[in-house]
Amino acid sequence: MSSSDSRPAQKADTKLAHAGRDPLAFHGFVNPPVVHASTVLYPDTATMVPGGQTYSYARRGNPTTNSLEDAITEIEGAAGSKIANSGLNAIALAILSCVKSGDHILITDTAYGPTRHFADTVLPNFNIDVEYYDPKIGARIKDMFREETTAVFTEAPGSLTFEMQDIPAIALAAHEIDATVLMDNTWASPLYCQPLAHGVDLSIQAGTKYIVGHSDAMLGTIAASERAWKGLDRLYGAMGCHAAPDDVYLGLRGLRTLSVRLERHQRNTRAVLDWLSQQPLISRIRYPALESDPGHALWKRDFSGASGLCAFEFADGTSREQSLAFLDALRLFGLGYSWGGFESLAIPVNLNGMRTVTAPPQDVQSVRLHIGLEDPEDLIKDLDQALNKTFA
Ligand SMILES: *Cc1c(COP(=O)(O)O)cnc(C)c1O
Repeated sequence: MSSSDSRPAQKADTKLAHAGRDPLAFHGFVNPPVVHASTVLYPDTATMVPGGQTYSYARRGNPTTNSLEDAITEIEGAAGSKIANSGLNAIALAILSCVKSGDHILITDTAYGPTRHFADTVLPNFNIDVEYYDPKIGARIKDMFREETTAVFTEAPGSLTFEMQDIPAIALAAHEIDATVLMDNTWASPLYCQPLAHGVDLSIQAGTKYIVGHSDAMLGTIAASERAWKGLDRLYGAMGCHAAPDDVYLGLRGLRTLSVRLERHQRNTRAVLDWLSQQPLISRIRYPALESDPGHALWKRDFSGASGLCAFEFADGTSREQSLAFLDALRLFGLGYSWGGFESLAIPVNLNGMRTVTAPPQDVQSVRLHIGLEDPEDLIKDLDQALNKTFA
């Protein structure tokens, strides 16, 4: 059932199994139908003229998209949610829903690269001033506030370098000047971090990653707090946004198994990192769930789990060529962008142009891994043979 009012509070796993579903509305079938549609018919003009039915035109939603929106709203504890056709689209829409000409937006220096690209190339055209801040700023963000500051964009852990942020402290400061707080929460998924509970107003997921979970569709989700919902709803309608029903269905299907998949991603990642951390050729691991990570305390305080995305640095003296040769020697790990599917992936970390106010690690060869659902012993064997082959 999709209405949450009459039910006792449910645990997260129960919500993942039931949120957004109303089988009796669809002849008892467990899942909602995939509604392929544009036109919606009305029985008569008496219904049509005053707009007196739930659905008017598929661009404005259909039972499939509403099902995923309802599920996200419930899982994130939001006032309302929208589905975007990619994670980046969700980020762009969320930002545009809360800034206007003349405004100033603060964005974490460790934001996902395409988020920066959007902010740097699109927002200035609308006279929106973009400024980046150190992700570790916490409550001191208030020193950067101007009269025109209306939005603060966060992402934790940071893209490629995994810095944690003190989200509650940032949200508290931002709300004192009535600014909207956005968070790209893709790494943890709504299962392991609940941004709205930490004061975030617009919680963003690249649904492409863990919600879809199988590397076969692209989606984004935006869950809004009461104060941000109206703006999001208005912008979404005005922009003519619509996510394709087949992809939305894959998102709904992925949600049902999010918890069991993430639990295994987390366990496998721990096993792989335990091994990697003992390798003399590896100097540092970036993953906030590790006790040794500088962001560990914040992770422990605000997150209830960790996903399968992490990075490591090769020991000093490793050349770019060696780092790339290592990647080429991997057999089980695929070389590919994106992540969140069932399979393990690796990419070389390239921070060129991606940091403007914090100093990125210098002269370090770093690899980002996504640890999938394979047996971790096989993943370790693959990493081991690639290390041996490269550094023999
Ligand atoms: C992948 C990703 C996105 C963008 O999602 P797409 O669906 O690929 O557009 C946004 N933020 C983070 C942190 C991501 O990893």
